[in-house]
This record gives sequence, C-alpha cells and structure tokens, in this order.
Amino acid sequence: MNHAGRLRRLGDALGGHGVDGLLVSNLTNIRYLTGFTGSNALLVVRPGDAIFLTDFRYLERVAPLREFLEVRQVNQEILRVAGEQVAAALPPGGRAGFEAAHLSFAQHRLLAAALPGAELVPTNGAVEQLRAVKDEQEQEAIRRAAAQLEPVYAALADEGLAGRSEVEVAWRIQELFHEAGTQGAAFDSIVASSEAGALPHAEPRDTVVAGNTLVTLDLGCRLDGYCSDCTRTFATGPLPAELEEIYGLCLQAQLAGLAAVKPGAGGAEVDAVVRDLIGEAGHGQHFQHGTGHGVGLDIHEAPRLATTSSATLEAGMVVTVEPGIYLPGVGGVRIEDLVIVTADGAERLTGYPKELITTG
Ligand code: ZN
Ligand code: ZN
Repeated sequence: MNHAGRLRRLGDALGGHGVDGLLVSNLTNIRYLTGFTGSNALLVVRPGDAIFLTDFRYLERVAPLREFLEVRQVNQEILRVAGEQVAAALPPGGRAGFEAAHLSFAQHRLLAAALPGAELVPTNGAVEQLRAVKDEQEQEAIRRAAAQLEPVYAALADEGLAGRSEVEVAWRIQELFHEAGTQGAAFDSIVASSEAGALPHAEPRDTVVAGNTLVTLDLGCRLDGYCSDCTRTFATGPLPAELEEIYGLCLQAQLAGLAAVKPGAGGAEVDAVVRDLIGEAGHGQHFQHGTGHGVGLDIHEAPRLATTSSATLEAGMVVTVEPGIYLPGVGGVRIEDLVIVTADGAERLTGYPKELITTG
C-alpha cells in the first residue's frame, strides 16, 4: 500500500479544509494513512510531513513507518503531547484541524489546553474522502474478501436452514469464515427468518427456522483488514403469495439499482431508482433504509446511496446495493451485492445467484 502517497494527498488537501495541520485520531484513518494496526496512536499531518505518536508497545511494529514519517514514542498523555507537537509544527496563530467525528468532548478540552496559541478547527471527512476511492490493491483485497462469501452461501443452502435455530446458523457462518482462513466476520451476521425478517437489523434468535418462509442472511468477512458485505434471502419451502411477490419486486429493484451505478451518478440518484420502483409497486413504506453504503476498512463508510446523499460516484469506489422490503409481523427480503464502480458501470464482487433459492 502506498502510505506515503496517501499522506501526501492528505497534506495537499489540508488547505481545502481550512487548516494548516491536522490531528488524525481515528485509528482506522491512521491505519489507512500509515498501515498501523495497534490500539494507541495519533498522527499529526502537515503539507509535506507527518509525525506519528505511539507508546512503547508498538515501537517494533512501527519500524517500517520510519521510512515515510517521523515516529515518536509517547508512553503517557499522548493527546497532550500531540497537541504540543501540533503547536510546534504550526505557524504562529496557525489553524489546527481535528477530526470532529472522532474526538470526544473531554479529549477536545485536553487538546485545547495543550494548544494555547492556535485555533482548533473541526474538520469532517478529510481522510474519509480519500478512503472512498480505492486503489488497485484495496480493490483486490475487497474482491478477495467478497469471493469468500459465495462458498459460504453455497454451504448454508446445501446444509439447509429449516429446523436449525437462527443462532446456530449464525455460528455456522462464523465457522465457515474461520475454515476459509479469513480474519473473521466483518460484522455480526444477520440471520432473520419469518417475522424477524421484517427487521432490517434483526439479531439472530434462539428460534428455529420454520418451513415455507423467507430467511435473510446478511454476512461479510474481513481479509487484510478489508470488509465484504452481501445479503441473500432464501426460501425454506413454497412461499405464501405475498412473500413471493416481495422477493420478485426486491430483486427487480436491486437489478435496477445495480444498473444505475456508474461514474457521475449521484448517491441520491441511484437510491431514487430503487426507491421509486418499490414505491410504484405500493411498497414504499416497507423500504425505509438507504439503498447502499461504501465498504472498505470499515463496513459502513463513504459514499452513501441514500435520499440525503450528496455523493457523486467515481471509478474505484466500492458500494453495496441492498434494497429490502419488510412486511411487519410477516417477513421480509433484502438482496445485497457489493460492487466496484468502474470506468463505465460496476463490477459485481458478490457472485452468488439471486433468483429465489429454496433450501429446505
Ligand atoms: Zn450487509
Ligand atoms: Zn450492507
């Protein structure tokens, strides 16, 4: 990964955020910029250079970082010391940026006390904006993480769902991720059958999966730190007409959404394609979450595909397209694919079939 290049691009972008330097405190952002995977670090970035602070536990691990930034050991009061570093690194009266979404009120107070001469300026998404467009290596990591999901769905379909509890199926997913040599689940798997399928973020229950219903399986794993994300909904036997109908509608909307993903399309625009189609079929009130989200080092990151999204898709972005239709008290369906935005459309990374599969 080209960490030096990422730091350079962030340094170059600081002016656009109205700051002379930026204190990066979010560990995922620090990982993206430096490759560091420990639990305690801060990063001070200025145009042209960067200072990395961590404690004695990580000194060996961060040795490779010394090639492209300055590493300082700070065993205690790392935030106060970082503040002093920022103060020393800024011009008189300089503007010191911090990550507004990733610094607590108490931390902000500490930082302000360490920076008496400088102006503390909240910034939003400075690193997240860079992270939204994935380079070749990141795309490959996500592609590989996504490729792990197809055999998991195949195994689950083969083993059958009816008669096992949702918790049992969720645990089986963990096992399959472990056996495949992944770094585990990227998030708590969703296994939601019958009426629980109507809850978009249902937690697996001790309840046994019944026959003749829908079961939503939303799962993803992590490889080299990068996440994958996919949802398939299976039938456990011939379905009541209303469940069969919403499955067909959800699939139609999902395919329309996928077709709308291309460079230049707005996140709100793709969402509208999906939402309008579901709304015209009379199920608008049964689809209230966003159509999709970016995936990378975090399972949910920029850009969002939603009514309120101001994002414009660019080649190299990795997003999900995941409409759902939820009938309260009855059941639900969600179908989710993970795609890379390409020069003229989208490359689908989650290849497991989407026509209704009956597992028993
Ligand atoms: Zn998902
Ligand atoms: Zn998702």
